[in-house]
Amino acid sequence: MEIACLDLEGVLVPEIWIEFAKATGIESLKATTRDIPDYDVLMKQRLRILEENNLGLKEIQEVIATLKPLDGAVEFVDWLRERFQVIILSDTFYEFSQPLMRQLGFPTLLCHRLNVDERDRVIGYTLRQKDPKRQSVLALKTLYYRVIAAGDSYNDTTMLGEADQGILFHAPQNVIDEFPQFPAVHTYEDLKKEFIKASNRALTL
Ligand SMILES: [Mg+2]
Repeated sequence: MEIACLDLEGVLVPEIWIEFAKATGIESLKATTRDIPDYDVLMKQRLRILEENNLGLKEIQEVIATLKPLDGAVEFVDWLRERFQVIILSDTFYEFSQPLMRQLGFPTLLCHRLNVDERDRVIGYTLRQKDPKRQSVLALKTLYYRVIAAGDSYNDTTMLGEADQGILFHAPQNVIDEFPQFPAVHTYEDLKKEFIKASNRALTL
């Protein structure tokens, strides 16, 4: 039995905060963990900016609803789901991802949750657990699944390492150089081939 685990942002959909910053024109929302490595500091800054700009969850979801999955992502997910059970492992929030997940046909998603008050303001967030992607792969392995995982960035590498086979997709060159043990591909066609190669079944394209 095999399960495919996919990262979401950068693999199937654009980086949500970056696109949200572009859509709203709020330059300061473009900061990522590359600029502010402490995730908690970064998230508190983002939530303060939302508050200052009077953006509640409804306004945020309306902007995110205008975003589209990456070209070819919908077809790729359909292809993968015909051959594997698919789980998306993401560091996004359910409340943000919903408009994009709808366009992907709502595959199973494990991610984090925002705390929203009665006025629809985002007042905080709840992380599901520590090292969530790797923990999810570990849990699936206790169910005797073989796990094949694909992701694009540093926050995926413990998941890729824990999986029976990890694959880098759309990864920047520094990540590819630092983790040469994972095959690195850049198109969905090549990603399909890597999943076929990693499978212990005789799958075809
Ligand atoms: Mg990513």
